[in-house]
Amino acid sequence: MTTLRPKILVLFSARTLGLFKLSRYLTRSQLRILCYHGGVIGDEDGFNPKLFCSAKTLHTRMQWMQSRGFRFVTLDDGVSQQAAPGAKAPLRTVVTFDDGWYSTASELVPVLSALQIPSTLYLSTKNFLEGWPILNVTVRYTIWKAGGRALTLQGWGAADGDYDLRQPGERNRLANGVVAAIQASAHGREQVCAALLRFAESLGVPAAALDLASRRFDYVTEQELRALPQQGCSIESHGHVHEYPKGQPAVFADDLRQCEEAIVGMGLQQPRHYCYPSGSFGPEATATLGALGLRSATTCIPGLIGDIGGNRHHYLPRFLDGEDVHPLEFEAEMSGFSELMRNAIRFIRQPRRALQPGMA
Ligand SMILES: [Zn+2]
Repeated sequence: MTTLRPKILVLFSARTLGLFKLSRYLTRSQLRILCYHGGVIGDEDGFNPKLFCSAKTLHTRMQWMQSRGFRFVTLDDGVSQQAAPGAKAPLRTVVTFDDGWYSTASELVPVLSALQIPSTLYLSTKNFLEGWPILNVTVRYTIWKAGGRALTLQGWGAADGDYDLRQPGERNRLANGVVAAIQASAHGREQVCAALLRFAESLGVPAAALDLASRRFDYVTEQELRALPQQGCSIESHGHVHEYPKGQPAVFADDLRQCEEAIVGMGLQQPRHYCYPSGSFGPEATATLGALGLRSATTCIPGLIGDIGGNRHHYLPRFLDGEDVHPLEFEAEMSGFSELMRNAIRFIRQPRRALQPGMA
């Protein structure tokens, strides 16, 4: 909080001076894309405030946007309108969710439905089809819940050993080792849940504190997924294995096809938009995305969207909101103030080529 305060004071002053309002006017024709992940069922936002956002925070954000004249559009409409020539309706915004968390469907989509705001869920299909708690997240949550202390782990094969859980590197090493051990030995939801509970027990975290029954680390079921479009939430592609294979177009194409097959196989509309997992992408992606008919792809780079010509529609900026984002930072980003500041800084920092002798 102490490092955030000077920035917040600057933003507060800028808003007081009317610069947020001015920024909204100057950037009104640019499209905004917002990103959220899961909702909050217990205390997951304390563990990872970017991955889990409460219904209350989402509701507050959406109400603020509606009160300032933002217009919520579907992802498909937003991209189409941005590509079309001519004047555009001001302050168009798209809301997206990544991954496919159960808590997205149970906590967040209802908030948007009640406000008549459309949304898009980028589904990662391997985790969805497996149908058990997301190992990487559940194991890391368990370690967070255990607090910083020394640990001697036994009965986990290659992950056995001594760990100092006060050290981030040690927590990471433990998480990776235990995830690998569960992946190698557990098959099916029952076995995975049993292994997660055994790990929690070895860290002194009670089963009630892990609360797997709440499904807070699960993805949606097929039935829940198929109900989302009726609530204004379209289903698009987040790839199959939740990893962008940099520099491997054939692997990428295969990953996209597997995701598409899973989505279409459930009777849902063929995906037309893609979201890079963990924000990782490469210049080679656009050729594969174009060949497979994907009309847009979103990154995790914050920014507003103007011209989407060339291959820009396959590298769209997007703002990752969450519990770790101060309301003033959110307002600054959505108003376009942050984007104008970033552009100004880029302009100041760029070399003054025109002033150098001998250059055209
Ligand atoms: Zn993701």
